[in-house]
This record gives sequence, C-alpha cells and structure tokens, in this order.
Amino acid sequence: MQPAESAMTRRRWIAERWDEATAAITGAQAEHFARVLRGQPGMEADVVTGGKVFHAEVVAVSTAEVRFNLLAEIEADPALPITLVLSVFKFDRMEWAIEKAVELGVAEIAPVIARRTEKHLALTAEKRAERWRRIAHEAAQQSRRSDEPVIHAPVPLSERLRAEAHATRLVLAEQERTTTLRTALDAALTASGADMPAIELAIGPEGGWAPDEEALFDANGWTAVSLGPRILRAETATIAALSVTAAMLE
Ligand code: SAH
Repeated sequence: MQPAESAMTRRRWIAERWDEATAAITGAQAEHFARVLRGQPGMEADVVTGGKVFHAEVVAVSTAEVRFNLLAEIEADPALPITLVLSVFKFDRMEWAIEKAVELGVAEIAPVIARRTEKHLALTAEKRAERWRRIAHEAAQQSRRSDEPVIHAPVPLSERLRAEAHATRLVLAEQERTTTLRTALDAALTASGADMPAIELAIGPEGGWAPDEEALFDANGWTAVSLGPRILRAETATIAALSVTAAMLE
C-alpha cells in the first residue's frame, strides 16, 4: 500500500455501488480513473457511500469498474483544498463574495491589501475581519458544512506572497489571454494523479492588479489565468473561479 497521505489530499470518489466492506465506481468515473489518472490497485482514496466517507484502497481497476476495499470511516470534510487570496474591495460586495465563497466550499480566505485597494478600505480592513468571520460562520452553517473556513487577518499582498505555500497558485488576471483557469487546473489535476491538488486563487481589487504586483506574482511562481475576454467584477470573478475549480476538483 502506498504511504498514507493526509485525508485532505486524497481524491474523493462518490461510489455507485457499495456494501459494508467494498465499493465501486463505474461508467465515466471508472474510465477517468483508469485512463486519465492511470489508477492502480494499491492506491488510496476517499470513497463516499451514501453520506458516509471512507478511507479506501483500490483493489481492482478496469475502464468499466474500479473496486475499493473500505478501510475506515473518516470525518466528512466538505471543504475543498482551495485557498482564496482576496484583495480587499468595496465592503458590501466583498462580504457578499465571502458568503458565496464559503457556500462554494473554500477552505481558507486570505484578505490582502492590494496597491489599488481604496485607501479607506485598507485602513479599516483589520477591524472588519471579525465581521467577515461571522459572515463565514453563518454561511458555513447555512450551507451545512461540518467545518468553517479560516478567515486570515488582512495583510499586504507582498507579505502574503512571501508565505510558503505548497499549492498550485493561480492569479486571476483580467489581461491574461493565453492560459485559461481550466487549462491550468487540468495540468494541476494531471500532475497530482489520484490525489486532489491544493489550489490557491488570487482575485484583484476593483482597479485590477498593478504591473509590479503582476511581476511579484510571477516571481513567486504564480500562474496568470483568464476567465475569458469579459472584465468581471471582483465578486463575479470570485464566484466564477471558485465554481470552475470546485467542479473540476470534485
Ligand atoms: N479594473 C480592471 C478590472 C479589475 S476586475 C479593468 O477594468 O480592467 C477585479 C479582478 O477580477 C481582477 O483583478 C481579476 O483578479 C478578476 N477578473 C476580472 N475579470 C477577469 C477575467 N476575465 N479573467 C481573469 N480574472 C478576471
């Protein structure tokens, strides 16, 4: 058996068939596992069987069916390994974006002061963090999550970018024309094999990213990605980026 990975990174499969000791995925899921992920017996995964989640081991792989042994039931953890680096922008719209991000399963939100964050918002962001945490707590309850996301204290963007991260880091850039978010996520999924890749998504303020910020992202290994040719509001880009990422990770 492969070394035990942390539950957070193991890919999760919703079983089509199961009993108390085994489970199976069939059809397109099995084909994806076998062909795209080149899944092998011995790999570990989380398997969801009717509301429960199990740490499981692959015992047989074909393009028609993948069978698992259910090893141990684990805590259902609906958060996705997604961290949202969110530039501070107009508070009412930003608070709405935080609530939607929680519903969409984000694990952490790191508010950052970007160069074009309006000055008065930057000055009061620290005090607003408690309100953002309350909004996140209520949204986590309303969306029936069994956990609530971490809302970090607001810091300057440069400080956040210096923080060590082991995730695939994608900066949503309205000027980007070649790499789409989907392409970058496809690459991350292929590279992560049967595990679920951790993803960080950065969203700029109403004024967009400043040129020196784009250079800073690049210098810190972030990939600029596009959500298409239209210019979205920060809150729209937040929902779109999280929805695309969640759909591709789940
Ligand atoms: N003031 C800028 C728009 C900033 S929109 C302008 O008018 O050009 C705020 C943030 O939303 C951007 O910094 C980016 O992170 C994100 N965003 C908006 N549209 C996007 C797109 N088409 N692709 C990727 N990110 C986008």
